[in-house]
Amino acid sequence: MIRRGLFSLIAFAATLFAQGNPDWHRAIPGFKIAGNLYYVGTADLAVYLIVTPEGNILINSDFKEDVPAVRAAIEKLGFKYSDTKILLISHAHGDHDEGIGVIQKDTGARLMVMDADVPQEESTARGRPGAKVDRVLHDGDTVELGGSKLTARLTPGHTKGCTTWTMQVQEGGRTLNAVIIGSPNVNNGYILVGNKDYPQIAEDYVKTFRVLKALPCDLFLGAHGAYFGMLAKLEQIKAGGLNPFIDSAGYRAYVSEREDTFRKEWAREKQNPGSRMGEK
Ligand SMILES: [Zn+2]
Repeated sequence: MIRRGLFSLIAFAATLFAQGNPDWHRAIPGFKIAGNLYYVGTADLAVYLIVTPEGNILINSDFKEDVPAVRAAIEKLGFKYSDTKILLISHAHGDHDEGIGVIQKDTGARLMVMDADVPQEESTARGRPGAKVDRVLHDGDTVELGGSKLTARLTPGHTKGCTTWTMQVQEGGRTLNAVIIGSPNVNNGYILVGNKDYPQIAEDYVKTFRVLKALPCDLFLGAHGAYFGMLAKLEQIKAGGLNPFIDSAGYRAYVSEREDTFRKEWAREKQNPGSRMGEK
């Protein structure tokens, strides 16, 4: 009976996970953020396209089932899916990278991944992309193509190789600093104190917030649209006026709120050793 109960619980959790947020799999038209930087993800799972004269860079794939929506968004903007030359990820979780192996196979793009996330990227376990990493990145490495340059900033904690991508975009005679946050979030079930698989997890989050706070940011972006209020900002774009993605104050407020949440959880776990995020 106990085993059966446990199985039901796991099945229930798996169903919840599979359903997820309805915006995860809701296709939306791609749109220009600024300069040669475009959004081609779903209503919440962000995918970024950087268009250059030597081919394109794609950051994230979303789940396998979302790859056709990503491809359609690229093509409806008038770009070629087959021009994808370099593939990057925010971090090695299925909502951002499960489809990476599919896109790599379709386009022949070179996959570049932060060192500590490489084993997860190449894993063929359920929900993992089983992709081949062509170039292993280290903190501060740059990725260049056709005059565009991205910098990989290690922002660990959420995963060991979680990566915040930064780049400069030219728009209307201005140079804009874009920051695509990898993830500052402590997920439900995460253990910050006494984590045997990831002993330095809390110190890594501390480092991540230090890095994020120091980055210059004009264009506030991230691995999920929800981080930066993407859907609401998209409505503002349709209404015309200033580019709502230029939101330095929004970035600072978001990072500060996320750091507070992390520090409260860390303090709570120190008071309750052996507990996990989401447990009271
Ligand atoms: Zn994640």
